[in-house]
Amino acid sequence: MPWKTIIEPFRIKSVEPLGFTTPAERERLLREGGFNLFNIPANKVLIDLLTDSGTSAMSAEQWAGIMRGDESYAGATSFYRFEKKVRELTGLREVIPVHQGRAAERILFQLLGGPDKVVIANSHFDTTRANVEVSVAEARDLVIGEAARIGVPHPFKGNIDTLALEGCLKELGHKVPLVIMTVTNNSVGGQPVSMANLREASRICKQYGVPLFLDCARFAENAWLIKKRETGFSTLPVRDIVTEMFSYCQGTWMSSKKDALVNMGGFLALSDPALAKKAREVLIIGEGFTTYGGLSGRDLEAVAIGLDEVLDEEYLAYRIRSIEYLGEGLRKAGVPIVEPPGGHGVYVDAKAFLPHIPSRLYPAQALACELYRLGGIRTVEIGSLMFGKKGKDGAFIPARAELVRLAVPRRVYTQSHIDYVIEVFAKLAEDARGLRGLDLIEASEHLTHFTAKLAPAAA
Ligand SMILES: *Cc1c(COP(=O)(O)O)cnc(C)c1O
Repeated sequence: MPWKTIIEPFRIKSVEPLGFTTPAERERLLREGGFNLFNIPANKVLIDLLTDSGTSAMSAEQWAGIMRGDESYAGATSFYRFEKKVRELTGLREVIPVHQGRAAERILFQLLGGPDKVVIANSHFDTTRANVEVSVAEARDLVIGEAARIGVPHPFKGNIDTLALEGCLKELGHKVPLVIMTVTNNSVGGQPVSMANLREASRICKQYGVPLFLDCARFAENAWLIKKRETGFSTLPVRDIVTEMFSYCQGTWMSSKKDALVNMGGFLALSDPALAKKAREVLIIGEGFTTYGGLSGRDLEAVAIGLDEVLDEEYLAYRIRSIEYLGEGLRKAGVPIVEPPGGHGVYVDAKAFLPHIPSRLYPAQALACELYRLGGIRTVEIGSLMFGKKGKDGAFIPARAELVRLAVPRRVYTQSHIDYVIEVFAKLAEDARGLRGLDLIEASEHLTHFTAKLAPAAA
């Protein structure tokens, strides 16, 4: 294909207005909201890159499916369609619907977690870690060392360190109820896991008799990046790549708010009928009957359709290319990013971009606020506001990195929207040195970043 333009592989049937505001209005909203972008009303945001979760645009087919949704309490046709799709996709027989990813995690770790257990992953996503730790088990991350080198590219920064995995299983064996591979690896920037790494992790797990699970929220983006970056996969249909990925696991769960192109939904799928029986008992108590979980029939229908649509290679080419394009634009504007760009967004390295702002003045939050002030763009800080801690003596312990995540909703924005984001960054880069940090003035003990209040630091 000789064309340079990223052509969105859809035309637009239904539109929503963007939230245009004046600079004075944004200034006021920032002050009133304590320089916390979670406090900005969505209709006051022009381009919303806060998250790619539940923010997809559904297709005409999915909306048609919504009308066809069967709302019967038990045995709805929508459930059987959903079950069939998930079985086809994963090769796993036992399919349990849940309202979103963390509900599957709660059920799974209520059954498999517990004191003395150690759950191993390439990286646990936040909610996964929380559910493991609530069960009083330990959540241990064994991502490869390359993941920490922000500006240095590596094709599969999401990989697990297989030597460390083997060492842990040898040492802990029976204490490890399962090993998780998160695809793509959200916590390190939406970075993919290679097929070779999945294969090797699976071999090691088999050797020690430990089941391997996929946390598969972005399985399709991961499969596309395998096709593009791993030797031997370039001519294979993405469906075959997905089939091979799932062939290595004995269980999986999905936050369908990502690659199933829906606004709500999820599932847990297992090979072990005995475990599935127990999971369904927990499901009925907390989520709902076994053929709907926490979902409406129409949601099940939309997920089933989305799981097909996401494997359309025209869609995936557009999706991943548009993220790369954003990364290229930022790089050209002199903005340092996590290299290479991930599957669902670009992460800006605020520490390198704003070296004059120390971590204790939250450089990534300062940058996120400036993007809003200047251009009405909403992003999210992944740095010391989210992960910073207080030491025993009350001293500030910064996060390992100060990042701003630009997560791109699926099928929502066009190239002109992305060009605008790049333009705002280029403008901001002209006077990056003039940007000031933020003082934290009010914070809660847990999940600080949702409720924190900040104010511009003195010059
Ligand atoms: C979003 C996400 C979850 C949690 O899913 P929710 O639908 O937000 O509850 C778990 N794992 C990964 C990798 C995710 O990206």
